[in-house]
Amino acid sequence: MTTQTTTRCENLACLCDVSATQETCSDYCASLDGRDPQNVRCECGHPKCTEQVERQLHGEGGRESV
Ligand SMILES: [Zn+2]
Ligand SMILES: [Zn+2]
Repeated sequence: MTTQTTTRCENLACLCDVSATQETCSDYCASLDGRDPQNVRCECGHPKCTEQVERQLHGEGGRESV
């Protein structure tokens, strides 16, 4: 069984999982802009990430219907 080790993207605002050999999921997250701690919204462009960030910002309840 091969367990792929994944780690969280270096960008604190980003919720993407990246493989252990990478630090960030995208050029955006690797840039100073992406790492800016004042940035609460990640703009790496991954739909999954945006979705999860939105969910966090609106609370874990997920009462919002799309
Ligand atoms: Zn992201
Ligand atoms: Zn990222």
